[in-house]
Amino acid sequence: MQSPKKIAILGATGSIGTQALEVVQAHPDAFEVVVLTAQNNAALLISQALAFQPKAVVIANTDLYPTVRDALAHLPIQVYGGMEALVEVVQLPELDLVLTALVGYAGLAPTMAAIRAGKHIALANKETLVVAGELVTALAQAHQVALLPVDSEHSAIFQCLPGEGQNPIEKIILTASGGPFRGKTRQELAAVSKAQALKHPNWDMGAKITIDSASMMNKGLEVIEAKWLFDLRLEQIEVVVHPQSIVHSLVQFEDGSIKAQLGLPDMKIPIQYALSYPRRLPSAFPRFDFGLYPSLTFEKPDTEAFRNLALAFEAMQRGGNAPCILNAANEVAVARFLKDEVSFLGMSDLIADCLAKASFVAKPSYEDYVATDEQTRRLAQAYKPQ
Ligand code: NDP
Repeated sequence: MQSPKKIAILGATGSIGTQALEVVQAHPDAFEVVVLTAQNNAALLISQALAFQPKAVVIANTDLYPTVRDALAHLPIQVYGGMEALVEVVQLPELDLVLTALVGYAGLAPTMAAIRAGKHIALANKETLVVAGELVTALAQAHQVALLPVDSEHSAIFQCLPGEGQNPIEKIILTASGGPFRGKTRQELAAVSKAQALKHPNWDMGAKITIDSASMMNKGLEVIEAKWLFDLRLEQIEVVVHPQSIVHSLVQFEDGSIKAQLGLPDMKIPIQYALSYPRRLPSAFPRFDFGLYPSLTFEKPDTEAFRNLALAFEAMQRGGNAPCILNAANEVAVARFLKDEVSFLGMSDLIADCLAKASFVAKPSYEDYVATDEQTRRLAQAYKPQ
């Protein structure tokens, strides 16, 4: 029998992190949790640490470090506080794989540190590839580290590729649910509320990605993520709206054949596949029943109403640090939307404003990305809605 894969879960208390722990719990012989991290949710991190007995935990918010340390003092668990500790713990020698399930730009530094230490990456944190895809994929190649997609669309594409050897991809088709506002006009979108945007029809996710899904920025970020994961040109990536979220994405090959991966919208499937790859482990997840889905439908996305998708394509086309600008502007836009400081459509205006004003760098280094992120966040915070 193989020894269990030793894993770190960055963002263990979130939507992906908690589902990953359910997968681990269902397969105690396949996985062993070595590291768990959270930002603010000390209570859940403590109870996860008590249940899974990892070697180390990190609470990124240093104010909460004493709480976590004291609660776990009677156990042989190393407790760390602060973001810098994330970069340290991913390098523990016994780790095989790091699941990056934290949100946003914060994922970049620990992911790069894990790759440098030779750890395989189960990548949920798509923002890492949006910000610095070229740098991160080159680093992974140099260290012979696998970037295993967790995002359901990218997992679908990844699952369509085994057996294809060197057969080139002609194009991929990323499916999008369309979110809660599918079919709405710009005029109607002008009046939507935060509560409506936080209600996704098919997926139960963290707040940031839920807003990204409502604005279709999520699909824009996924286009950029797919470009880097599968080494594609922008023209090879198509987005199609599929409201039932059953066909998770498709790959078209040079003979015109299309392969797809299907299943109920349940993130535990792609999470488990990324953790257990290249094996498939059995699961008790509910099975898809064609009888319950008599019609699967597909439509073109409306990039006029959902301008964020067009902005993401534009940023990718421009290249350099433009996707990094897009990402930082979007992170601030979502945070300000959640604080009622900008409207739903105002998020796109803010992002377009940052793309116009932030300094463009054609061949960015890591330091350039850090500077771009800082500059864009300043611009985005200073942005005054019209
Ligand atoms: P959540 O908001 O539910 O969870 C985020 C996790 O990361 C929490 O553990 C949180 O800690 C921690 N965290 C947040 N910000 C920071 C930070 N700055 N530093 C350190 N830790 C931090 O997010 P999701 O699970 O929804 O999403 C995680 C990632 O996965 C995102 O990149 C998202 O785009 C991607 N993804 C998510 C999907 C989903 O179904 N949820 C689907 C596909 C991709 P705390 O709880 O303490 O705040």
